[in-house]
Amino acid sequence: MAGAGWRDVRHFIGGDWVEAGSGRTYPNRSPWSGEVLGEVAAGDAEDAERAVAAAHEAFGRWARTLPWERQRIFLRAADLLEARHDEVLRALALETGCGRHFGGVQMDFALKLLRQAAQLAYRPDGELLPSDVEGTRAMAVRRPVGVVAGIAPWNSSVVLAGRASIGPLALGNTVVLKPSEESPYTGGGLWAEILHEAGLPAGAFNVVTHAPGEAGAVGDALLAHPLVKRINFTGSTPTGRRLAEKAGRHLKRVVLQLSGQNPLIVAGDADIAYAVDAAVYGAFVHQGQVCMCARRVYVERPLAEEFAERFAARAAALPTGDPRDPATVVGPVINEWALALLDRRVKEAVGLGARVLAGGVPEPPCYPATVLTDVPDEAEISHGETFGAVVVLEVVDSAEEAVARANRSDFGLAASIITGDTQRGLRLAARLDAGIVHVNDQPVNDEPQMPFGGVKGSGWGRFGLGFAAEEFCELQWVTVRDQNRTFPF
Ligand code: ADP
Repeated sequence: MAGAGWRDVRHFIGGDWVEAGSGRTYPNRSPWSGEVLGEVAAGDAEDAERAVAAAHEAFGRWARTLPWERQRIFLRAADLLEARHDEVLRALALETGCGRHFGGVQMDFALKLLRQAAQLAYRPDGELLPSDVEGTRAMAVRRPVGVVAGIAPWNSSVVLAGRASIGPLALGNTVVLKPSEESPYTGGGLWAEILHEAGLPAGAFNVVTHAPGEAGAVGDALLAHPLVKRINFTGSTPTGRRLAEKAGRHLKRVVLQLSGQNPLIVAGDADIAYAVDAAVYGAFVHQGQVCMCARRVYVERPLAEEFAERFAARAAALPTGDPRDPATVVGPVINEWALALLDRRVKEAVGLGARVLAGGVPEPPCYPATVLTDVPDEAEISHGETFGAVVVLEVVDSAEEAVARANRSDFGLAASIITGDTQRGLRLAARLDAGIVHVNDQPVNDEPQMPFGGVKGSGWGRFGLGFAAEEFCELQWVTVRDQNRTFPF
């Protein structure tokens, strides 16, 4: 297990569970009960460097492992993970406050990710290219890059750690994963257990954990290390921006999936019952702690009053509390700091004139589903990502106006439109500055094969197994001549 029983998490380096070089640990606390779940290795730059060395050493062998063998490892890993379904859901609830529904969503994604990655083992492929030089055959060959570092957040820990690691691995790279300090087990140690047991060679996948407030040292070491060829990062825009600045200095390519301020637009011809259901799910799933969650709901005026009433009533009635209770929809906020931020932003908005239609009062460690309206533009909540179950409702004269308002955001991750006219939905989608748009759905959707990512302040590059070869392979131009050529001198 991840060190000594799953609740203690050590680094996983070169196929072994190891202590931090410094010997330090930190307590991993449950956001619901506050209980200490276990001690976690408090890693530093030296630990990160050890992990990179192990990943580099494993690279040659892993890259040469035949596809059928790689494929078998991912399929075996999927079976092993599936067999631990209920245990993983319990771990997610304990470690991250994730409820039963979203735990199931995470498991579903992770299993599909592994099974689709098994097919990716037969990639990367290349192309033959026509050449104007007589007797030259030209190829574009995709090759794994070497060591890929993944930095993942806690909010969808199993999915996002898996997404950071499995695509790069399947393409023949080796990986060093840095989980969030809030999810060292479900976002790190668990993946090491599964992949190790499935037969992944030692060193191909490594995990380095660290104490709260100490991500920078590990992240910087990964960024600066010349043997780390790519970084992928999922997290907040301020952190992503800092990483991108540093990566620029090292001329290192990064995939960044960052914050969102995602609109859900309800057109006047929408089925109102469906629109309310979709908005409730999209705004409050996993207590609003998903990067794709609807943060702003725009409703065309004819539907606005009834929609607001029904939406607020549903929000106010959502069961809130213990994430282990299957009935719970809104579980605990990840930590006190995040809860305080939600409270502060809601209070600020109310101070500036916003009206609270539902929620608005913290119930520590939860923040109940909250609907605000009449939120002035200067309120932080109307433009900055606020990671929790708080949504801003706005009445608009037209869905086109909603698109224009949504496009004023610095972010552009996910968006959705609910309308009785799908053609209009597609027209509006084409005008939305967002990496992802769903017509007649809410914005929280993901599948391993889809191009997942944003525009503007939501990042660049795309996750998604179908697109992983573009991000995590090097394209090499190779030519071969079938006869000697003549040179001019
Ligand atoms: P979130 O609010 O979703 O946790 P963060 O951007 O703070 O967003 O965290 C996402 C990931 O980035 C986590 O793994 C966290 O430890 C890591 N992180 C935070 N600060 C840094 C940093 N300075 N360098 C590298 N990684 C960091």
